[in-house]
Amino acid sequence: MWQRVAAVSSSFLLCAGILIQANAWSPSSSVEVIGRRRTIMQTSTDSEEKGTWNPLSLAVLKLGFTEPAWTSPYNYKNDEGKYVCANCKTPLFPSSSKYDSGSGWPSFWKTIDNDKVALERSWDGRIEATCNNCGGHLGHVFPDGPTRGNLDANELETVPETDPDIGYKAQVNDAGGEKSQFSRMPRYCINGAALQFEEK
Ligand SMILES: [Zn+2]
Repeated sequence: MWQRVAAVSSSFLLCAGILIQANAWSPSSSVEVIGRRRTIMQTSTDSEEKGTWNPLSLAVLKLGFTEPAWTSPYNYKNDEGKYVCANCKTPLFPSSSKYDSGSGWPSFWKTIDNDKVALERSWDGRIEATCNNCGGHLGHVFPDGPTRGNLDANELETVPETDPDIGYKAQVNDAGGEKSQFSRMPRYCINGAALQFEEK
């Protein structure tokens, strides 16, 4: 009897030991996340020094997490102004480019100025959008934004040159010589926790 109990206990301890070891070593993705955190944490802000970080913003901006859909109050905001980086306050998106994409995340079809948002293809094939000043994770960019025909012509003229040409293409010209226009603008799918709204 006691031998049996001892055998069960030792095999339990063995399993627990293996589990602890597996947790410590197996997930390679956590290594990547830690690497990202180290890089971004180099940019110190008042919030970090004072320990006043909003935990959700911290998880999104610093660790690349995605907030649950339909949880940001910015989904429903239609006021005029601009959306700045919640970390370093760099202006990122004008309210004039905000639209209802139906995705559950605040969506924009253009940035506010050249070189404010950096884009990079991430490991899963999506294009990641980060704040070009502090490196904070914002969200992703997709080619299925609003159609050009539904947008204000003046607003279309002020699209920053550094914004990507990734909207779906219009019908390709049969002659092949003309550069085909993009029928849809990009969709910047942004975590509300990475943004802060400033009135005009
Ligand atoms: Zn920033």
